[in-house]
Amino acid sequence: MPTSVDGYVPASAMVVVAHPDDAEFMAAGTVAKWARAGASVTYVVVTTGDKGSEDPAMTPARLAEIREAEQRAAGAILGANTYVFMGYPDGYLEHTLALRRDIARVIRTHRPEVVICYDPTNRFLTDSYVNHPDHRASGDATIDAIFPTARDRLTFPELLAEGLEPHKVAQLWLGHPAQPNIWVDIGETLDVKCKALCAHPSQLDADVVEFAVQLARITATGQGFEYGESFRRIVFDTGELTAADA
Ligand SMILES: [Zn+2]
Repeated sequence: MPTSVDGYVPASAMVVVAHPDDAEFMAAGTVAKWARAGASVTYVVVTTGDKGSEDPAMTPARLAEIREAEQRAAGAILGANTYVFMGYPDGYLEHTLALRRDIARVIRTHRPEVVICYDPTNRFLTDSYVNHPDHRASGDATIDAIFPTARDRLTFPELLAEGLEPHKVAQLWLGHPAQPNIWVDIGETLDVKCKALCAHPSQLDADVVEFAVQLARITATGQGFEYGESFRRIVFDTGELTAADA
């Protein structure tokens, strides 16, 4: 499996995450790079993020409004074109058939070439961070929505009844991967990624910039460039066997 993906730009990309700000940590450098090169980018945020506050005066409804506005501001910095806020409550996300169908609906509607989502198998990201259950649930549901639900005509016939024809996603990119197989050089968009992270002031203070730069540097170790994002990429079967199939 090649590790260099320089030069690959999808015509359309969809980023599916659990919370406003997830996409910025996971893939903002890559998304900005693709958007600059002409890709259309759809952001799909599954929950409202309405639990992310320790302020006793904050209400879930107010917080959801703030976080949607922050996500739109961050996406505008990166060059995102379209936003889908699915409105599930923060903190309670489960990998259900209903969630799978709802994400399949979004995929069939926007028909992306590439989908980026969480790697649900990565439960312990570091020795000091346990992955959020919403992240894992959103990843599981998105993968299952891509394959086979969005692809299969007879699954969830209500989607067909809504006029949504099946759609085959060409590539799946898993962010914060347990086993990365590709690394993207984000040197030219690291500044934009940091600006997008700073567009979430309800969640992140200015220290996030140093964190993001350090993480990008560590991620790029051994790749021949200075700052990177890593993914596990799945390129769906084109019918040709390769050495990787052996
Ligand atoms: Zn999150």
